[in-house]
Amino acid sequence: MATACVVGGGPAGLIAAERLAGAGLAVTVYDRMPSVARKLLLAGHGGLNLTHSEDRERLLTRYGDSADRLTPMLAAFGPDDLREWCAGLGEPTFVGSSGRVFPRSFRATPLVRAWLARLARLGVRLERRQRWTGWTEDGTGLCFTAADGTTAEATADVTVFALGGASWPRLGSDGGWVGPFTDRGVRVTPLRAANVGVRVGWTPLFADRFEGAPLKQVGLTVQGSGHGVRGDAMVTRTGLEGGPVYAIGAAIRDALDADGSCVLEVDLRPDLGVDQLAERLERRRPKDSGSTWLRRTGLDPTAIGLLREAGGGALPGDAGQMAALVKATPVVVSATMPIDRAISTAGGIAWSEVDASLMLRSLPGTFVAGEMLDWEAPTGGYLLQASFSTGVAAAQGALDRLGR
Ligand SMILES: Cc1cc2nc3c(=O)[nH]c(=O)nc-3n(C[C@H](O)[C@H](O)[C@H](O)COP(=O)(O)OP(=O)(O)OC[C@H]3O[C@@H](n4cnc5c(N)ncnc54)[C@H](O)[C@@H]3O)c2cc1C
Repeated sequence: MATACVVGGGPAGLIAAERLAGAGLAVTVYDRMPSVARKLLLAGHGGLNLTHSEDRERLLTRYGDSADRLTPMLAAFGPDDLREWCAGLGEPTFVGSSGRVFPRSFRATPLVRAWLARLARLGVRLERRQRWTGWTEDGTGLCFTAADGTTAEATADVTVFALGGASWPRLGSDGGWVGPFTDRGVRVTPLRAANVGVRVGWTPLFADRFEGAPLKQVGLTVQGSGHGVRGDAMVTRTGLEGGPVYAIGAAIRDALDADGSCVLEVDLRPDLGVDQLAERLERRRPKDSGSTWLRRTGLDPTAIGLLREAGGGALPGDAGQMAALVKATPVVVSATMPIDRAISTAGGIAWSEVDASLMLRSLPGTFVAGEMLDWEAPTGGYLLQASFSTGVAAAQGALDRLGR
């Protein structure tokens, strides 16, 4: 019987294991944690946004420079396939108002439970608490160290690595794989935080009053980049979080790399043009305080607080100047939050290192899947979708290599 080692028991590794075992291989999954799929389970705390229902063309744009490489994998196992797979495990999905796809239960636990039962029926062996540390000296075997320090080796006809990125390391993926891979000459683009909040030096007054408050339906642009997004951001004690912040994360990283700091322009009324806004602001009543004046234009207390913060406590009295400020309130970002607080990881094994079947060119028979590969995407279900799609592709590559 042909054998497969799957190293890493997240969604990418487990779907690869399912495909390989389904084709009749003897499969062993190794994971360093006491239980598998911990990040998937945590994603379930936020409702488990599995994938997105938008059309294929638009979906592919979410993967930026990696779209070309991911296109065939998303065609072979795309959003509809993922939804069908989920339903097959007793968890039908639905499309939310934003187009995002969720399981009806909004949870990952029933899905993971049913999935592990299916894997057990397929004969997949799970070796938990086994940290992969590298290859044997002759380069053919895999080395593992257990939690108690005992070491073990394993070999198989094919191997799929799906060790994830480096965000939320306490869930298992800590990026410890980078060293052994680079030592073997595999090019790894440095791992960086993606879908992560940013650090802003708020005044204590602003942080005390607005920590946890949403900035609803604002536009965000990295000053000078021309790249803007809309959505709900959230003020934190030390900065900003939320979908639009994550969505322009790559532009923020580029600006920080170039200049050491970055200015975000917050459009507090993206639905109104600057002239329309100025016209409304002209109608200030003589007795209106600054806040009342701004509230009349539809700005809420958090938005008004942000305007005051940007103006050093003061607000411009002139309608034109105020309109310009409302349309581009500057917020100085000093850094992104650390990778251990990020939802996902940018960087990973460079695309040039793998062929179309996700096999490492320098290590025939060894495949790579999931967040370990050098792609990134915003939140919206795109991360899990690509993790599943690459897991299926790696398994298919392994099966093709074995002539199955
Ligand atoms: C809070 C949070 C919420 C999220 N919500 C969503 C969401 O709603 N929608 C979405 O699309 N995405 C979401 N994501 C992202 C998504 O969970 C990941 O993109 C996805 O889990 C990546 O899958 P993976 O299999 O590549 O890696 P992982 O899920 O990280 O799995 C990798 C596995 O490898 C194991 N491992 C790592 N190193 C070793 C080693 N040396 N030896 C042995 N085992 C090892 C780990 O223990 C882990 O089990 C969320 C992430 C976070 C942190």
